[in-house]
Amino acid sequence: MKESSKFIRTQTPRSSQREHSVPLYLTSSFMFDDAEHGRAMFTEEVEGNIYSRYSNPNTSEFIQKVCDAEGAEAGLAFSSGMAAVFASFAGLLKSGDHIVAFRSIFGSTHQLFTQLLPRWGITTTYVDASKPEDFEKALRPETKMVFLETPSNPGLELVDLEWLGALKKKHNFILNVDNCFATPYLQKPVQYGADLVSHSSTKYMDGQGRVLGGIVVGRKDLIKEMMFFIRHTGPAMSAFNAWVFSKSLETLPVRMDRHCSNALKVAQALEKHSDVEVVRYPFLQSHPQHDLAKRQMKQGGGIVTFIIKGGMQRAMSFLDALEMISLSSNLGDTRTIATHPVSTTHSKLTDEERAQIGIFPGTIRISVGLEDAEDIIADLARALDNSK
Ligand SMILES: *Cc1c(COP(=O)(O)O)cnc(C)c1O
Repeated sequence: MKESSKFIRTQTPRSSQREHSVPLYLTSSFMFDDAEHGRAMFTEEVEGNIYSRYSNPNTSEFIQKVCDAEGAEAGLAFSSGMAAVFASFAGLLKSGDHIVAFRSIFGSTHQLFTQLLPRWGITTTYVDASKPEDFEKALRPETKMVFLETPSNPGLELVDLEWLGALKKKHNFILNVDNCFATPYLQKPVQYGADLVSHSSTKYMDGQGRVLGGIVVGRKDLIKEMMFFIRHTGPAMSAFNAWVFSKSLETLPVRMDRHCSNALKVAQALEKHSDVEVVRYPFLQSHPQHDLAKRQMKQGGGIVTFIIKGGMQRAMSFLDALEMISLSSNLGDTRTIATHPVSTTHSKLTDEERAQIGIFPGTIRISVGLEDAEDIIADLARALDNSK
């Protein structure tokens, strides 16, 4: 079956009720057929559901769909994207281990690297995606993992996955990619050698701004090792959220096609506006890594970033002049959202740290939704004209 069909047709086996759409399995635990069955399940001689902190039919269905889409062997579902990202470190690393991370990453992941993981003796070195020559210099004998996001938030900088996958053959590290912005529909890091792929499913996988969740898929041996960590620490995804995500994945390809075509139109319109300094979108000719984007991604994604002329004050006045577009810090929703990173998502960083990842006082991030592109562009143009 083709990928878009698998998102729809991968389902938990039908129950005796002959339901067409998979029901919600709201049950904390599952029964054993007899005493011997219970014993065999706990020694893992027999596979199956025991307790929903370990597995549940709804979470298993969601995991299977994402594994198929990413081309991964196994996976685990989590209560949020950050629980997933944290488990990919805490479940596999120990005191003394070292991580090399590409600098442009999600704010809470940055806090993990700089504030929390050092408490347990795990240290991180940042490298810049724009200086790939520095990457190998950052590796140490104790480097166990390399972590990155591509495209990055909100600078939309790319990391060349093919290049990194080739380097992995020379050095021994776990390649861990947060694929949240692209989704497996647009980019498949496993193809290039990624060992783990993580997602905040809160974003495009739900796609309608309703529930929190996260997932990590990848190599079976690594997922098994992480399974021990999550069984005993409990960041499991709820059956309800898994049910929502699994239904949402049925429409992921259709939604992503529309997010991407709308985003390209928005980026092209913004590029023509005289009050816009720079527009960043991976599939714009003007993106410095346009060729890489075309090689690595099927389409450019749903996020467009631009710098408005007039800095901080103009950016705030522009946001207040928007009529339809929502002001929120979320992304990957049906509704178009405008975010000002300096005053919200990236306010904890210093000016210097922000400049290093391409965030300036006039930077605006647009998560382009599924409304008619003409309405989105009209609202942006009106707000540009009406702000000072
Ligand atoms: C939102 C996000 C996360 C965190 O996910 P939550 O579901 O909010 O915990 C991690 N990485 C990226 C790239 C994100 O956009």
